[in-house]
Amino acid sequence: MRWYYHCPACGADYDIVPGRYLCDRCSALQKPQQPLAGILEVEWDGDDGEYRGEKGPVRADDFRIPLPVEPRWFPRIPVGNTPLWEPSRLREKLGFKRLFLKDDTCNPTGSFKDRASILVAAFAAQHGIREIALASTGNAASSMAGIGAAAGIDVTVFLPSSAPQAKRIQVLQYGAALRQVEGTYDVAFDLSLEYTSAGKALSRNTGYNPLTIEGKKTVSYEIVEQIASADKASGQAGSALAHLFVPVGDGVILSGVYRGFENLLRLERIKTMPTIWACQADGSSAVARALQTGEFGPPVASSTIADSIAVDVPRNGAHALGKLSRYGGRAICVSDREILDAQRELASTSGLFAEPSSSAAFAGFLKVRDSLDPASGVVVLITGTGLKDTASAARGLELF
Ligand SMILES: *Cc1c(COP(=O)(O)O)cnc(C)c1O
Repeated sequence: MRWYYHCPACGADYDIVPGRYLCDRCSALQKPQQPLAGILEVEWDGDDGEYRGEKGPVRADDFRIPLPVEPRWFPRIPVGNTPLWEPSRLREKLGFKRLFLKDDTCNPTGSFKDRASILVAAFAAQHGIREIALASTGNAASSMAGIGAAAGIDVTVFLPSSAPQAKRIQVLQYGAALRQVEGTYDVAFDLSLEYTSAGKALSRNTGYNPLTIEGKKTVSYEIVEQIASADKASGQAGSALAHLFVPVGDGVILSGVYRGFENLLRLERIKTMPTIWACQADGSSAVARALQTGEFGPPVASSTIADSIAVDVPRNGAHALGKLSRYGGRAICVSDREILDAQRELASTSGLFAEPSSSAAFAGFLKVRDSLDPASGVVVLITGTGLKDTASAARGLELF
């Protein structure tokens, strides 16, 4: 197989090499205060027969999932293959017999971000790159720091000082260099790009580095395989996944999930694209607004308890919007109150304690469930553990 980067906007192709992040032509059209122009996707040509059809369990670690970096470069840290819960009490209470929770809190650093970090670390190892730098609202930083520790790669993170304490402590425990930024994530993003373009570090900025989208696609493969196994075990006739609820800030998880399903369609392992619900906070809803109006207006200062999905300018917004529009994806916004209530409902009825951003996805499902067929296959993507931000969870309990 030949791997390359492809620009979905203009059709240009590029080699997957260090220093290549965006499409030259399209990024030259970047407008200030707007989502990144020229986001690239990973593509392949050639014989992909080994990834087609019914081939038994799909596991990220033995590479039944086509990825652009060979397995031998991956650091030995168990990312992915997270459990798919079948929450019986929640199913009963809500009347959805085929409701599943994809539990990505089980990743080594406690969040979904590890799926991107491990691929970026593997790429760095392949090319002898010794340092990775990034901006983050918290989880990408703690994730890259932890994966970097396993790989023996130096990590420098640019983090707004407002990031939850647990995420900052995680970064430092893993031994990464922490640059605190007095300002928003958007400021941290620009500072980190100055840093990587001036030096030798590889950027893991989300969306900007196409491998962050590619690494996240692995979750879609796992979900499809796990639902098939669950259906088999319960004697159901493999009815497909119909709805997937995804928390959205920058929109990279959303695009990664779509990339996974696009691959699976191409490989003929699924027949239809599920309906993907982009779940946002009322106070950080740029993608939802753009889906309505067709464009990203001037940035609106974000304000939500769900720090991981709080962004003013969604860096991957244009790319994510393209996917939502193309495949009939939907958007749903929830208030901080709905997020905190959903967090408690999820924890107390299923045993899964999710951070506020992930709880926003569950809140989105709760909000629209009356419009869904209760027999349909529904997955809520739980992207981070509640232990990463206990201060917010305490507010949900009205302790403070
Ligand atoms: C980063 C993150 C998100 C949002 O992902 P985007 O790619 O920014 O849309 C959601 N949940 C958690 C736990 C995250 O860390």
